[in-house]
Amino acid sequence: MKQAKVRLYVEQALGEGQTIPLTKEQAHYLFGVMRMAVGDPVLLFNGRDGEWRCCVTIANKRNGELLCEVQTKPLQMPPDLWLCFAPIKKARTDFIVEKAAEMGAARIVPISTDFTNSERIRQDRLQAHAVEAAEQCGGTYVPEVAELIRLDRLLADWPEGRQLMFCDESEVGSAKRLAATDGGSWAILIGPEGGFSESERARLRALPFAHVVSLGPRILRADTAAVAAMTLWQQAVGDWQ
Ligand code: SAH
Repeated sequence: MKQAKVRLYVEQALGEGQTIPLTKEQAHYLFGVMRMAVGDPVLLFNGRDGEWRCCVTIANKRNGELLCEVQTKPLQMPPDLWLCFAPIKKARTDFIVEKAAEMGAARIVPISTDFTNSERIRQDRLQAHAVEAAEQCGGTYVPEVAELIRLDRLLADWPEGRQLMFCDESEVGSAKRLAATDGGSWAILIGPEGGFSESERARLRALPFAHVVSLGPRILRADTAAVAAMTLWQQAVGDWQ
C-alpha cells in the first residue's frame, strides 16, 4: 500500500465511506504543490474522530474530493494541561504556540500581565499554527488557542480543582521543583520578558492551588521557559511518565 505523504486537519466529520470535499487551498496544496493524483492516500484528522486514511477521488486545480477508508489512529486526548503565557515578540509567540501543541497542551491561554509587551494577538493566526503543529507531529487533537485575557481576570475565574505550576523567575537557582503526582487538571504559568510584578508575584504565591517552581540556575527566555516547563510537567505529571 502506498505511504501517505500528506497529513491534513479538516473540519468535517470523518468515518468509513465519508466523502470530504476539498477547499480551493487544500486542492491547490494537494494537487498543485504536492502533485498528488486520483487514488493517492492522504491522512486526515479533525480533532474528534481520530486519524483516517483517505484516498483522492477527484483531483482538480481548484477543487477535489477525498473518500474516507479506514481509521489509522483513535482520538488521543492530551492530558488536561493549559499553557498560560504572556505573548512576546511575534516569532517567539508563534514558537510557543507551536511547541505547546507538539508537547501535548490541551489549551493555550495568552495572558496580559503588568509587564506584558504585546497587548494584542492574532488569535486566528496562532490557532492556525497549532493546527500546523498537530498535522506535523502526528497528533489527533488540536489545542484551542484562547483569546487574550488579563491575568487578574483569569485568576478571578479560576476553575475549581485546577492546579497551577507557577514558574517564578525569583526562584532562579532555588531547589523548588514540581513533585510527581498523578494527572488531574493543571496549568503552567510563564511570564513575559519583564517577568512578573511584585504584586502579581505576591498574589500568585498566596494561591492555594499554586505550586511555585524554579526552572534551574539560569533565567530562561519566555519561549525557552515554556518548553522547559512543559517538559518537566509532562515528566512529573503528564503522559511522558
Ligand atoms: N526579566 C525577568 C525574567 C523573565 S523570564 C528577570 O530578569 O527576572 C520570562 C519568564 O520565564 C518568567 O516570568 C518565568 O515565568 C520564566 N522563567 C525564566 N527563567 C526561570 C527560572 N530560572 N525559574 C523559574 N521561572 C523562570
